[in-house]
Amino acid sequence: MLELAIIGGGPAGLSAGLYATRGGLKDVVMFERGMPGGQITSSSEMENYPGVAEVKSGFDFMTPWQEQCFRFGLKHEMAEVVRVKKIGNHFGIVLSDGKEVEAKSVIVATGGSPKKSGVKGEDVFFGKGVSSCATCDGFFYKGKEVAILGGGDTAIEEAIYLAKICSKVYVIHRRNEFRASPVTVERSKKVPNIEFLTPYGVDEILGDDSGVTGLQLKNLENGNAKTLDIACLFVLIGYKVNNSVLIQEDGSNICAVSEYGEAVVNLKMETNVPGLFVAGDLRIDASKQVVCAAADGATAALSAIEFIEHHK
Ligand code: FAD
Ligand code: NAP
Repeated sequence: MLELAIIGGGPAGLSAGLYATRGGLKDVVMFERGMPGGQITSSSEMENYPGVAEVKSGFDFMTPWQEQCFRFGLKHEMAEVVRVKKIGNHFGIVLSDGKEVEAKSVIVATGGSPKKSGVKGEDVFFGKGVSSCATCDGFFYKGKEVAILGGGDTAIEEAIYLAKICSKVYVIHRRNEFRASPVTVERSKKVPNIEFLTPYGVDEILGDDSGVTGLQLKNLENGNAKTLDIACLFVLIGYKVNNSVLIQEDGSNICAVSEYGEAVVNLKMETNVPGLFVAGDLRIDASKQVVCAAADGATAALSAIEFIEHHK
């Protein structure tokens, strides 16, 4: 039986693997359905990890993480995990090929992904003026005009954040009413360089070899077209956590989850099920940054070591 199974090989899973193996756990396997690295490998520029001054692509940034973990004995099994289930006082890891592996403790770090809008040009210009993360990419557009698509709390809070960096922020929303909390909307309306465009939809993201140059918009009430010159569109229309492995055959969750399906954990990354830990973007209140996911992974591994020690 494994001492620890880690599910997901993004920043949280890899950090967990490093701390668990270096901390003395034996038989630690990281189940990752693809190449390790996580979401950040789809980013062309990564410049906000403390201590790494050089701007790197997400892929180049993550490559040494796996090498470092494997040096301390972490094993990687390329496999999709279907479910984590409880078997007595340990766990069963059900894989998509029907195989089942048993483990004394589990760290789930399956992350998530921002929702895409499906607007024409979104895929073409992703990373070249289309972004899903204001904290990650806002600084690249310092002093420039940008737009946000969405009307939830994330969109409005990030509009306030971006307004401190960018010269102007357009918030494009498909309805006149906002899903975001009224107090946040009121606060954003007092920011002079935020302009609301409602009810508008984006018909097309315009650009050239240099990246995004503008947007083709449509007023959804009267059908009037409008073009906007902007350097970046932040698509902030929701986030989906990869929580399927927590869901049991009867539809219940193995541990407590929030109304959005994020795992409820304490500061030690412990769920309400002893021996089961959740780290990174999948947990409640995640800051959705590489440095935060990495820290979560390390914390979860230290908690798993403590758990294994107490149950020897
Ligand atoms: P993830 O990175 O999502 O990793 C989860 C891993 O689990 C994935 O590799 C996935 O394949 C695997 N997995 C999922 N389900 C299963 C399963 N059932 N079985 C097996 N494996 C599974 N953050 C920053 O700090 N700075 C940035 O500049 C930045 N830029 C970003 C740009 C983009 C385009 C995106 C999408 C995100 C960016 N982020 C950035 C956010 C950052 O990538 C995430 O916060 C971070 O990767 C979360 O790490 P994680 O380990 O929790 O999850
Ligand atoms: P969200 O609440 O689901 O809002 C998504 C927004 O995007 C909605 O305004 C929606 O429009 C719009 N949208 C969805 N699909 C779209 C599409 N294809 N094209 C254009 N617009 C689209 O997502 P979120 O803002 O990421 O927030 C997620 C949850 O986290 C929410 O419950 C939120 O309250 C919470 N949150 C809380 C805080 C906080 O408390 N400080 C901060 C951030 C997030 P419609 O409204 O028309 O559907």
